[in-house]
Parts: sequence; C-alpha cells; structure tokens
Amino acid sequence: MISKINVMGRIKEFITIQKKMENGGVLYVGTLSKEKQFIKYVRAKAKTRYHKLKKDKCWVCGSDKDLELHHVYPLSDLVWGYLEENNITNPENNPELRDKILEDLQEKIFGEDNLLTICKVHHKNLHRLFGRTYNSKMVQKVKKYLTKQKEKLNG
Ligand SMILES: [Zn+2]
Ligand SMILES: [Zn+2]
Repeated sequence: MISKINVMGRIKEFITIQKKMENGGVLYVGTLSKEKQFIKYVRAKAKTRYHKLKKDKCWVCGSDKDLELHHVYPLSDLVWGYLEENNITNPENNPELRDKILEDLQEKIFGEDNLLTICKVHHKNLHRLFGRTYNSKMVQKVKKYLTKQKEKLNG
C-alpha cells in the first residue's frame, strides 16, 4: 500500500510494509519512504564500488581489523541536493536515474576526501557523537573530531 504524506512541504510516498503470517493474519511491519529506499540503493552501489578500491587500515588508529566505510559528506545530503538542483520530485519512478546520479556525483561520492576507511570502534564512536546521519554543515566538525582522535593516539 502506498500513501502520500506531506513532510515539511514535500509530498513523500510511503510504502507500507506488511507481512502475511502463517495463520493468515497480517503483521504490520512499518513504513519506508520511497525516497529512503532510493538512497539505500545508491548507498549499496557506492559500497560495491568502494570495495574495488584498496583501503587497508583505519584512518584514526591504523588498525587493519573490522574496517568499515564512512562517507564524510553524508550521502543522503548529496543525493537530496542533486534531486533538488535538478528539480526531480519522484526519483523512485526512474530506475535509470539511480545510475545517472552515481555517475554525476562520482567525484563527490568517491573522492579521496569523502571515503573514509575506519575501524568498527572508531566508526561507532563517530556516529555516537554525530548521530546516525548528520547534516553536511557538520562535515568540518567531523573532520576536526577525527583529526583530534588521530592526534591523541599518536601522542
Ligand atoms: Zn580505528
Ligand atoms: Zn559512517
């Protein structure tokens, strides 16, 4: 089921996710904005491409264990900005657009200053401090924080 909801002036489409149970009942699982699904796809694609690049240690502590990828510039912000600049209101209805966005934002998404290899522990700390996703305006603060953490470890 798709419902349209006005979220801060933007009409967003939500998909209601339901699960059929064995006894025939329907379990209401939740709603997911279609736009969120779209960003999820772009994120997965970016990750796949990232794995082809070689990054082998945590930027903060140098550990080579439990490495993860962090986007310094929030991916959702980049994608939102792109959609807004290009007046695209229903990205989810255009599957080809997902690949086009990746191409057009290639340098921003895959640029050296955006992809950060970081270990699980330092990644967790970062998001504990700045939230699961943060605004692009926070980027400088995040960078400062990371540099400080690195300096601390290097004495
Ligand atoms: Zn680390
Ligand atoms: Zn992250």
